[in-house]
Amino acid sequence: MKTSPFLCLAFAAAALVGCTREPATEDTQETAPDPRVAEIHETSVFVDMHAHPSRFHRANVESISAEEIEVYRKSYMDIAVANISSDMAYDGRYTKRDGTVVEGGKYKPERGEVYALAADRLARAMKTIELGYAVHADSPAAVLRARERGEVAVLPALEGADALEGDVENLYRMYDNGLRLIQLVHFRNNELGHMQTWPYSPGGLTEFGREVVKEANRLGLIIDMAHSNHETMMDILEASEHPVLFSHGGVREFTDHDRAVNDDEIRAIAANGGVVGIWPHGRHLSDVAEMVDYIEHVIKVGGIDHVGIGSDLRGISTYVVGFDEDAKFHAVAAELLNREYSSEDVGKVMGGNFFRVWVAVALAKN
Ligand SMILES: [Zn+2]
Repeated sequence: MKTSPFLCLAFAAAALVGCTREPATEDTQETAPDPRVAEIHETSVFVDMHAHPSRFHRANVESISAEEIEVYRKSYMDIAVANISSDMAYDGRYTKRDGTVVEGGKYKPERGEVYALAADRLARAMKTIELGYAVHADSPAAVLRARERGEVAVLPALEGADALEGDVENLYRMYDNGLRLIQLVHFRNNELGHMQTWPYSPGGLTEFGREVVKEANRLGLIIDMAHSNHETMMDILEASEHPVLFSHGGVREFTDHDRAVNDDEIRAIAANGGVVGIWPHGRHLSDVAEMVDYIEHVIKVGGIDHVGIGSDLRGISTYVVGFDEDAKFHAVAAELLNREYSSEDVGKVMGGNFFRVWVAVALAKN
């Protein structure tokens, strides 16, 4: 199934400069066991569609650390989607700048507080760029330029749009401050829609949710449906003019876990042109081979153009064997190669599919 253009063509369509890349440095060769992966990276952008590097979303860190960016660079990853869980204003488990630990619990934040907490975390993500550890994934073109210099790009994201507090002006403010992806729902039924996990409740996208989808389309912000219940997902797919992601989770075929997508959902996301991200979650999956079984299931049901990787790095406590704490993304590529996927197909899974979606979303910006 070779339905999508080669990445170079996508680049050309975006009126970008090209997709050549400097040869890998000695340092990166040392840390990547399979040289075939480095070769694939020459022609494909590698993307972690969902992560919390350095736990910047909850820990009291100034920025994502240079060491954490190095974790990505060693595995040839070009983009780390860095997520702020903005529902933490309601359930705690974070540390403030003054060192105060907010324990897990139930909180009733004041108006403005949810936005302010997320804005502070966004500033920390952007500080990573100010410090020169990474570049801002401002646009697909900016990422391609960064690749040529061997730099990693951080793409700031909201995990749960609770931070908007029901006001679209807050979306504009966050966009202006660097936000480039918005996951509408997290662990709370919020102003936009309903969640995938217990306590379940019926209902889909709200009026405000529809307004945010429309404005995200207009701004060129990527939409992520992870953590949305079935009705909310179907409503987002209907409302969005552009492809969307389901950035991180498993597949129902192999697990009853809430955070997995069923075959109907995979088909619907694929029909919309979007991407399903499989995670290396150590509590639900055993090793990289099993993770690739999940990826293969999405390929079987939705096609090679509709799957990717969302690590949830530093958002979960344990990772599959072979991916591990040091996030060996390249092991996933190597396993796909061992199963005789072509270089082009491996490139799509490693991030080419995400990048195609982003180019489409960004080109439609007006
Ligand atoms: Zn999540």
